[in-house]
Amino acid sequence: MLANTFLHEFQHGVHPPEHKDYTAALPTQRMPFMGQYILPLNQNLGAPPQPVVSVGDRVLRGQPIAEPKAFFSSTLHSPVTGWIRAIGKRRLAEGDFQEAIEIEADPYATQRLDPQPRPDWRKMSRDELANEVKRAGIVGLGGAALPAHVKYVLREGVKIKTIIANGAECEPYLTNDHRIMLERPQAVLQGLEILQTLLEAEQCLIGVELNKADAIAELQRHIKPDQSIKVVPLRVKYPQGDSKMLIKSLLGIEVPKGVRSADLGIIMNNVGTLAAIADWFEQGLPYIDRRITVSGPGVKQPANLLVPLGTPVREVLRLCGGLREDTKEVIVGGPMMGIPIASLDAPIIKISAGVLAFTDKEAARPQEYPCIRCGRCVEACPYFLNPSKLARLAKARLFEEMKNAGVGECVECGSCTYACPSGIPIVQLIRSARADISRKKGKSS
Ligand code: SF4
Ligand code: SF4
Repeated sequence: MLANTFLHEFQHGVHPPEHKDYTAALPTQRMPFMGQYILPLNQNLGAPPQPVVSVGDRVLRGQPIAEPKAFFSSTLHSPVTGWIRAIGKRRLAEGDFQEAIEIEADPYATQRLDPQPRPDWRKMSRDELANEVKRAGIVGLGGAALPAHVKYVLREGVKIKTIIANGAECEPYLTNDHRIMLERPQAVLQGLEILQTLLEAEQCLIGVELNKADAIAELQRHIKPDQSIKVVPLRVKYPQGDSKMLIKSLLGIEVPKGVRSADLGIIMNNVGTLAAIADWFEQGLPYIDRRITVSGPGVKQPANLLVPLGTPVREVLRLCGGLREDTKEVIVGGPMMGIPIASLDAPIIKISAGVLAFTDKEAARPQEYPCIRCGRCVEACPYFLNPSKLARLAKARLFEEMKNAGVGECVECGSCTYACPSGIPIVQLIRSARADISRKKGKSS
């Protein structure tokens, strides 16, 4: 039935092998509680929240430990009942040191989180909705970590027409969004209904790639006849889950550079974000547990897990039987946009969608050859940039020229690198040039 459906897609992009078989059929398991948790303050775009606890304090699972002091910020809650042991710099996945709260779990606490009644969302204004989402600590779980409430504060006169649930999960290996759609379809639909009601949107669309046909069927089965929610199967293609690509695929609309999709009447949220919204408004449960996929040929027992925030990656891997001896690289996130982890003691944070381990075979960098001007990177770029030119300019550190060539639009999706037959690490060159630009800006400000 679905195979004959007209499939929605965007132009360009690539088709990397999916590798989702490792975990797609594995139900999500809850990770047991550990002794120590590291909660970096900066888990959202914008300003980090500020600690409201002191060393030695007793905290309860779900209690706020850092509060936002700015609009672009979000509350951080304790993932466990225990004691604050330290507040100071800790090493994160990228290798840099950032301010974090360290919590020692109480080994005798039940770590149960009982539902708490919340005010009726049906009687809330749009501003109250935004404040509640900020209090719940919910950020965009699709990767960007934008505090979720920011999207719900609309410009004067803007009318939302469409709410999109992003269930594309186009990164290879990752299956945690797939599992949430299969295991908690009602929560995803409830989150959509809350947003649709409060934002007075006309319609809701759930975009799901066709390699998750069971999730499409499960969502469709739970949509009530009076709900204006439609599940739309998408062609399997990377980066289908990029917000601009998904809007193009579903609505045929190009979101111009510098324009917020909300200003065009479109709000998009990841399916995990929607379930988190339902959990807060229906049960008062803040965002403290992250669904992740642990996979790749280097992991002995791949799994989908529900992990308390702050759990060290080392413990996650231990639960999955550890790493194979020939493991070369561990990545947090997907293989296309994720980052190689600098230390296994780094914690799982709100946007850690996966922990992937690769052996020598997959992690080996291809031999780099000169550009043969084949144009494959241009064909692959979903933003219609010239990646080969950007790579050349990045190598020469010609930042102004990079800007003129549109580097601002690059989302670092890695499609160009994947497509390049000469093994040129295009996106890595762009990333490194951008990091230099930020460092320069930092020094001069
Ligand atoms: S140039 Fe940027 S946006 Fe284009 S394919 Fe490469 S990484 Fe993706
Ligand atoms: S794909 Fe690689 S070899 Fe081909 S034009 Fe782009 S950079 Fe050059």
